[in-house]
Amino acid sequence: MRQSSDAARCGVGKVLAVLASVAAPCFAGAPDATLFRGVNVVPMTSETVLADQDVLVHGSKIVEIGPSGTVDAPAKAEIIDGKGDYLMPGLADMHVHLMDGWPGDQMRLYVANGVTTVRDMDGKALPFLKAEASADGRVRPTVLGTSPSLWGSEKSPSKLVAKHKKAGYRAQKINSYLSPRDFKKVMKQVKKHELYSACHIPFRVGLDTVIAEKMDEIAHIEELVFVAAELDGDDPRLRDKETEAAYIIEAFHKKLGDGITVEALMERIRPDAVAIARKVRAAGLTIGTTLATNEFVAEKVTDPDATWARPYAAHYHPRFRSNMEAGRDGHRSAFSGNEASARDLLTMARVFLVELDRAGVDMVLGTDAGPWFIGTVPGFSVHDELRIMTECGLSPYAALSLATTRAAKVAAAMKADADFGTIEVGKRADLILVSGNPLKDVAVIQGSRGVMVAGKWYAREALDRLIALGK
Ligand SMILES: [Zn+2]
Repeated sequence: MRQSSDAARCGVGKVLAVLASVAAPCFAGAPDATLFRGVNVVPMTSETVLADQDVLVHGSKIVEIGPSGTVDAPAKAEIIDGKGDYLMPGLADMHVHLMDGWPGDQMRLYVANGVTTVRDMDGKALPFLKAEASADGRVRPTVLGTSPSLWGSEKSPSKLVAKHKKAGYRAQKINSYLSPRDFKKVMKQVKKHELYSACHIPFRVGLDTVIAEKMDEIAHIEELVFVAAELDGDDPRLRDKETEAAYIIEAFHKKLGDGITVEALMERIRPDAVAIARKVRAAGLTIGTTLATNEFVAEKVTDPDATWARPYAAHYHPRFRSNMEAGRDGHRSAFSGNEASARDLLTMARVFLVELDRAGVDMVLGTDAGPWFIGTVPGFSVHDELRIMTECGLSPYAALSLATTRAAKVAAAMKADADFGTIEVGKRADLILVSGNPLKDVAVIQGSRGVMVAGKWYAREALDRLIALGK
């Protein structure tokens, strides 16, 4: 039994009842203080573990941290015995798409996976939504949002920037097809309105102009791989989503030759990755990762059955599954006869991750979760992204920094609430309780003992129920 009798009275069983819309609201009468007793704290302020601590949460904030036995629990506080467990900050996925009409509620999947902050990259959400864990069963992480994307097909893209600012957005998203002229006009407005800017590298614009115009963030490592592939930005096939894949595959062939092995490819691309990483570092650009998506696409193209064998495939909603199958067919036809190119893109992106890290580039974890045609599943994809990073050789601490402290840094740059990412007094109580040390192995996080979202506690059983409800 990991919970006090208080918790048992108003804990897991009641949470489930609430989610099933039974009367007897639990959270309304829930204690607004929680004491984690005797936990090993992974504060993420540095690569350290503070052994055997008490952590007191009041309302939505962490209010006290001290050696075990030194922190008093207020009367009626829920007490969670965490002896031997590890308490770490909740995770942020800084590149998601909140899809309208998602068949299962994606918000629940994020929370169930310990993802307590997401950034919606395409203006589907309002600029900012507070985390929620309400008595009527609604649950969501804190949501930050960028404006809707500027694609380049708008009549006057730069005029939309002021509109987005007025709507309350704090970040402007820019996509692949803006002309250099429109891009410069847009960036002028972005700076005028003091917005954060996150983008693809528009094909006709290129990395150097993105840097010269002082863009804040490039949203995918993949965008830098395209720089290394020396695309001709003026090729008309790069004006259209339908034709760009064929052109990019052709550019890969031109750059890499045919039939290159993974090892040779890594050798071949590394000098480009080193040079580009240095350039990006000097410019102070932040890079979003989204390698889980590259992995998904490669897998769908080279080993489609593996996608359905993933441990969490059981949680796919039938509609999501059929949408994904359509997406798989789309990718398979785009890469038909060039299946190795999908694998090559993933390999190159992984080399870039390592070199960006080595160069000290600011990165944030993003997974591109949400778009049904790719298949990156909300919440679960964050664990894929962390796994890939550590497979590439990043330390667990470095990988987790991208989903905690670095994410908070980006939130601050967006002038959004950034009081997350570390376990410190005053920070939002977004927490994950895990049974192993996440600084040794990030895989322990997925089967967490529980997640706290802005002060509301969900024990494992409640998280499993959230996942089941998402089906
Ligand atoms: Zn995206």
